[in-house]
Amino acid sequence: MSNITQPNSKELGFRESVDLMFNRAASYMDLSPKLIEKIRVCNATYTVRFGVKLRGEVHTFTGYRAVHSEHKEPVKGGIRYSLDVNQNEVEALAALMTYKTALVDLPFGGSKGGLCINPHDWDEDELERITRRFTFELARRDLIHPSLNVPAPDMGTGEREMAWMVDEYRRLNNTNIDANACVTGKPVHLGGIAGRTEATGRGVQYALQEFFRHPEDKKKAGLRGDLDGKKIVIQGLGNVGYHAAKFLSEQDGAKVITVVERSGVIRNAKGINIEALKQHILEDRPLSDFKGGTVTPPDTSALEDSCDILIPAALEGTINLSNAHNIKTKLIIEAANGPVTAMADKILRDRGVVIIPDMYANAGGVTVSYFEWVKNVNHIRFGRLQRRRDEGKNMLLLNELEQRGNLKFSRKFKSEYIEGADEIDLVRAGLDDTMRGAYNNIREALLERPELEDLRTAAFYTAINDIALHYRSIGL
Ligand code: NAD
Repeated sequence: MSNITQPNSKELGFRESVDLMFNRAASYMDLSPKLIEKIRVCNATYTVRFGVKLRGEVHTFTGYRAVHSEHKEPVKGGIRYSLDVNQNEVEALAALMTYKTALVDLPFGGSKGGLCINPHDWDEDELERITRRFTFELARRDLIHPSLNVPAPDMGTGEREMAWMVDEYRRLNNTNIDANACVTGKPVHLGGIAGRTEATGRGVQYALQEFFRHPEDKKKAGLRGDLDGKKIVIQGLGNVGYHAAKFLSEQDGAKVITVVERSGVIRNAKGINIEALKQHILEDRPLSDFKGGTVTPPDTSALEDSCDILIPAALEGTINLSNAHNIKTKLIIEAANGPVTAMADKILRDRGVVIIPDMYANAGGVTVSYFEWVKNVNHIRFGRLQRRRDEGKNMLLLNELEQRGNLKFSRKFKSEYIEGADEIDLVRAGLDDTMRGAYNNIREALLERPELEDLRTAAFYTAINDIALHYRSIGL
């Protein structure tokens, strides 16, 4: 059995799929068709081909950086390493970045990049050389630049690649005091921010928590109560999927009953221990040796397992015309970008499935990237100036209350209350606030314009409104 459900030939390409969803929302807006077109199109896509001498011969690599919208700069978006990377894909992903940053109110335009490479084909030293050369090719065209274009990790890349990129950029721009702000998702010791690695998965958790605070929304999805005991099926246990599954199971009491990975499917009706499974995968042990559940060969039909919440967190197009009719959940949260095709979206909507859309659901990554970028251009860690002062004031208040009010607080309460906010506390609080605020903006749009019908259309509507307002203010 294949581990990727093959898209039906009637299916649209990724970019066309995003455009169709965009058009649906735009059709409810009183905007000129010319302005709508300006907002929708991708401004530019650069293809770079470069050679790196490896294993005694020159290998030519192809990379892309699509800049969808520069209405705000810098533009922002991850860099993906995968053999499937192509122009259509990076343009779709760049468009989603534009709408995402508008929706969660970040001062960025949208961009996305990719390199056609299977990272597993190369050892670490080789990957470093390829990444440094790719960085050089992007930097010489200002496609990586603290005030113009700021990449971040995506599928197949992470802190390690961002460390190589920032180092290479700094070598090329050693007089630029803001050079550290050229990429986000860096290791903390190289100018990164606490909480960036977990941010996208954390954002998925906060998005679900917010959804569950609204009884009417839960009712639409046929759900009750809170996340405790809810059955989850998740596809992809990489950065996003692992953190989302870990937080939802360890902190909210949800039960991850199925993990659909590239190398197999793991099931456990009592709930999979996500940390144990992740460690097992990281140690490169055969999946079939995992004792915490039943393991079967790769098979995307596992996405059809009955559950309360389905979380596609791997790649685009995995829920499409060929399986949308068989999906047995009432709630999908799109942790990946574009996991539900436009055609599948229609089928699922008609079947009453509630979808929390990607542009909102996975915005945690770019939100914390924004905090990192702000930290880099400010050259100071969040919380550094005020933490101890806050602690002193909190202590003063408690002491005064104890003395005058004849009260005695427990040692635990005192230490928790007194503690000033560290960087990670501020990052999580800022992320939670962003996710709650954006969800409520989407809800409000839906309440004001019920004809929008669903969260995705309302999210597009909110984002397009924001961008249109920007263009109108500057006379376009
Ligand atoms: P990753 O490379 O860390 O993880 C991807 C995971 O998906 C891996 O475990 C891989 O084995 C698995 N996978 C790949 N193909 C699969 C298949 N056919 N079936 C089952 N599993 C498969 O990537 P990531 O950073 O977690 O990104 C995942 C998705 O989230 C992408 O769509 C990405 O664009 C999106 N996203 C990522 C971030 C971020 O901060 N990393 C932010 C926003 C959105």
